[in-house]
Amino acid sequence: MPELPEVEVIRRDLQTEVVGRKIVGAQVRDVPNAPRVIRRHPLPAEFEAPLEGMTISRLDRRGKYLLFYLDDHLVMVVHLGMSGQLILSDADQPMAKHTHVVLDLAGGGQLRYVDPRSFGEMFVTEESELGEIPELVRLGRDPVTDDLPVEYLSDTFARRKTRIKPLLMDQSFLCGLGNIYSDEVLFLASVRHDRPTSAVSEAETRLLHKAIPRVLKESIEHRGSSIADEQYRDLYGAAGSYQNRLRVYGRQAQPCLRCGTPIERGRWSNRSTYYCPRCQT
Ligand SMILES: [Zn+2]
Repeated sequence: MPELPEVEVIRRDLQTEVVGRKIVGAQVRDVPNAPRVIRRHPLPAEFEAPLEGMTISRLDRRGKYLLFYLDDHLVMVVHLGMSGQLILSDADQPMAKHTHVVLDLAGGGQLRYVDPRSFGEMFVTEESELGEIPELVRLGRDPVTDDLPVEYLSDTFARRKTRIKPLLMDQSFLCGLGNIYSDEVLFLASVRHDRPTSAVSEAETRLLHKAIPRVLKESIEHRGSSIADEQYRDLYGAAGSYQNRLRVYGRQAQPCLRCGTPIERGRWSNRSTYYCPRCQT
C-alpha cells in the first residue's frame, strides 16, 4: 500500500498540477464499490454537489491522508487505502477499470480516483470539522514535516510495551510508515523487527531517529516504491523507482548488502518482514 513517500510524491505533483484550478464537475460513477469509496456520504450527490464550482487552493498531507483545500472552507480528504490511485487524465482517455470518482477540471482534464481493492476513500468536510475526524486526530508525528526530537522516540520506547516494528507502523506514534519503510529503517539501524521497544538501546534509538527521515526522503526523491503486487502509481500513471534501491524489503535469499548473509523473510501480523539475521539483532 502507498506509504508516506508515495503519498507525498502525489501531493507535490497535485500542488503543481491542480492548485488554482476549478472543479467544474464531480461524478461518483455507477460502478461496483463506488459507494464504498465515498462511504461517509450516504448519497453520491452529497459528495458531488459541494465540490462543483470549487477552486483548489492548496494541497496538504497528514500522514497518508491528502487534503485538498477548497473555497468556502471546504476540504476534500483522500486516503488511498491499499491500492488507490489519483490519476490526471485527458477527458477522452478511456476509463480504467475500477475508476470510482471523476473530477472535471476547468481548462480540460480530469482527476480520476481508481481503486481496485476499494479500501481507500474520499470525502468532503468543513475545514473546522477536521479536528473532529478520529482518524486524523489520532495521527502521531509526521517523520518528514514535523519536528521529531530523539526523545519522542526514546520516551515512547520506554512507555509502550510492544515490539519495535509494530510500533514503527503505529500511525498514532509516527504517521506514514508501513511495512516496506519500517523494514528499511530497521535494517539501517541494525535492529531486528521483533525486539521489545524497552530493549532498544540509546545508541540504537539515535540510529533509528536518523534512519526514519533518511529512508523516507530518499524514497520521495526516487518517486516512491512500486512493488509488483501493489498498485502504486503517481499522478501521471507512472511507477516509482525506489523499489530498485530497497536495501532489504523484498530481497529474500539475496545477500545482505552489508555482510552477505542471505536476507530472511519472516511473518509478522500476517505481513512479510525482511531482515538480515546477522546484522539485525
Ligand atoms: Zn547483514
